[in-house]
Amino acid sequence: MPIYEYRCPRCEVYEVIRGMGEAPAEDACPTCGQPARRKISAPHVSRTGTPAFQLIDSTMRSASDPRVVSGALPSTGTNAGPPYSSNPLHQKLPRP
Ligand SMILES: [Zn+2]
Repeated sequence: MPIYEYRCPRCEVYEVIRGMGEAPAEDACPTCGQPARRKISAPHVSRTGTPAFQLIDSTMRSASDPRVVSGALPSTGTNAGPPYSSNPLHQKLPRP
């Protein structure tokens, strides 16, 4: 449900959670009881915390500011695994 802001002439701005379109233009202030007018404000839509935004943000940041690697890459050693894939579908791929 959306959050509506009301400005009381005596007190400060307070927020009320009401159903969409159920907020009247004036409401009684919960502190002093005076009629408070509803404020027109930008909707609080934020996607900055979502995993999708974090992925987009890190991808865009890596284009201009890649992470600096300090140190040698991990050695491939003898436990590198099989040189070819064991997936039978990979055998159908074109070969050079
Ligand atoms: Zn008030």
